[in-house]
Amino acid sequence: MGRILVVEDETDLNDLITRQLRQEGHEVYQAFDGEAGVNVAGSVAPDLVVLDWMLPKLDGPAVCRKLRERSVTPILMLTARGEEADIVLGLEVGADDYLTKPFRMRELLARVRAILRRNALIEAEQEKGADADAAASDTVRVGSIAVSIEMRTATIGDEELDLTPKEFDLLALFLRNPGRAFSRDYLLERVWGDDYYVTDRTVDTHVQRLRKKMGDEAESIRTVWGIGYKFQLQAQPGATQPPVNATP
Ligand code: CA
Repeated sequence: MGRILVVEDETDLNDLITRQLRQEGHEVYQAFDGEAGVNVAGSVAPDLVVLDWMLPKLDGPAVCRKLRERSVTPILMLTARGEEADIVLGLEVGADDYLTKPFRMRELLARVRAILRRNALIEAEQEKGADADAAASDTVRVGSIAVSIEMRTATIGDEELDLTPKEFDLLALFLRNPGRAFSRDYLLERVWGDDYYVTDRTVDTHVQRLRKKMGDEAESIRTVWGIGYKFQLQAQPGATQPPVNATP
């Protein structure tokens, strides 16, 4: 099931296609000239556009180009002449598939189904990729200190820290950027955002409390004089320190 826009100036044919697609369960919008086609596509964001070649105001290839400027919505082009030059041009301006008039309605419905199915597969693949990325970046670990972004838990070794939400956000930000010095203003903006009831002292008091809860690792959150704070593991014999970045 998809949202489909039919751009066809022959009213009877447009109505016929629309009726058939609705019977298949699709949500269908109609436009009867090229300009209207572009406008309707802009407001309903269709999953597929069935686009006639010969149209008043803007012809099919011109509509195709305009749609391609802002979206990758699949386009099924209807051409009156099955000439190769037309077909090549149609594909060049961004149509995904074409049908030569006259066509059987069954053929059109089959093409529509195929395009929507292909698109659903592509979207599912992209979502899978995004989920994998999220899982991969969920846990941030530096030395024995780790945070799980999704669970909002922080641990040092086997011990879980009892942090407030702001303390957690601070620690997560530090762990993601070892060695980078953060100004108090930057920390306020990133961690407290639009909360107006805060001052520079807010950052300092939260850092103090966070340090206390971190026990032996307290000194990993270092004061950078004149700037703010940075996270850097305490030097261990033979250990290499993460690189120190420039100030933000
Ligand atoms: Ca036409």
